[in-house]
Amino acid sequence: RTDLVARFGGDEFVVPCEDTDVGAAEMVAEKIRRALAAPIDLDGRSVVVTASIGIAVCRDATLTADDLLAQADTAMYAAKQAGKDRAVVFDLQMRQQVTEQLDKASGLRRALRHDELRLFYQPVVRADTGAVVGAEALVRWEHPDDGLLGPERFVGFAESSGLIVPMGAWVLETASEQAAAWAARGFRAHISVNVSGRQLTEDDVVGRVRQVLRTTGVDPAGLQLEVTESAVMVDLARVATVMQQVRELGVQVGMDDFGTGYSSLSHLANLPFDFVKIDRSFIDTSRWPFVTAILHMTRHLGIDALAEGVETAEHHAWLRDAGCIRAQGFYYSRPMPAADVAPWLGEHALRRGEHDRPTADPRGGTPEPGGPAPELAVPI
Ligand code: C2E
Ligand code: MG
Ligand code: MG
Repeated sequence: RTDLVARFGGDEFVVPCEDTDVGAAEMVAEKIRRALAAPIDLDGRSVVVTASIGIAVCRDATLTADDLLAQADTAMYAAKQAGKDRAVVFDLQMRQQVTEQLDKASGLRRALRHDELRLFYQPVVRADTGAVVGAEALVRWEHPDDGLLGPERFVGFAESSGLIVPMGAWVLETASEQAAAWAARGFRAHISVNVSGRQLTEDDVVGRVRQVLRTTGVDPAGLQLEVTESAVMVDLARVATVMQQVRELGVQVGMDDFGTGYSSLSHLANLPFDFVKIDRSFIDTSRWPFVTAILHMTRHLGIDALAEGVETAEHHAWLRDAGCIRAQGFYYSRPMPAADVAPWLGEHALRRGEHDRPTADPRGGTPEPGGPAPELAVPI
């Protein structure tokens, strides 16, 4: 009878309280939470809802209504982040965080506009023959002040802010152009591109892939997408459709970081994966039984398996003997700028010549798409 509640959008409500201090506002929030805590009967089903509440107090006459709402919004997100079902009061430290986030976002936008992003490429080799069969494109940020930043410094933020969509589009385009340029010089290999969940659900990945195939002329069999399990779980039905459409264009799709997260068999069964990348945390002597099991399983499912994070000669030998066809890791090469790939290929070819290598794959592994395993073509 005395209070005002406004529905602000979707599931967001605003309660304005006049002549209130922080303590009184917190009491109002507590009353709301308690009122909501009672189960609601929905057609005989008992449903419990919780609320994340952000409180902002106007202490400054220059603060506009929009400022106040923005502060309450920030505090509400802090409440969600802290585990939901609670009330959080806006404070200046939070403002600091918001400013930092905004700075980060504008920095990343600038990076996109000013061409500060770089792609590094990490070779993928056949463990049995040593032939280079592909490379994974990995993004870096050449920051004007902080130097070369790895993806752990900005990809998470790009995902939460949505900037991963334009960034991912740039990655796909740049990697495809590179793949086409290499193919033209005789290096026929898969170029693998990491795709995040938000790209799959918010962007038209199929349209983008179709477009880069057209504009760069890259062979679809020379392009692969890598998605993580957490990315597919966001919207399984939609992701399944997107994956299928991408595959119909001739581009393979693989599950990255397999072994971490849920590693759900139903995801493998219900989604059309061409390959899985065994996470590098499994490339360890104590975990070989798991790798053996994954290799058996994928072989029976007709899915290619690739090992990531191969760091030592011992890892390499074990994986080769276990019949893991493709491998990637510091043992072969670290990710490097595109310009370093050709010289590396030359050295790698020389190193390969020093070893005896079997001429045929003893396990009868699936041939690489796009024809026979692309041997090194020199000069590049
Ligand atoms: P990822 O896709 O699983 O990539 C493999 C990561 O393992 C790379 O880290 C690579 O440098 C690292 N790595 C490769 N071999 C070894 C090894 O032998 N030992 C060890 N310890 N590490 C190895 P990087 O480049 O820092 O990338 C980290 C993650 O960032 C990637 O994991 C991927 O999830 C994400 N990422 C990178 N580029 C992109 C991108 O363009 N788009 C999206 N959405 N995510 C990206
Ligand atoms: Mg990857
Ligand atoms: Mg991985």
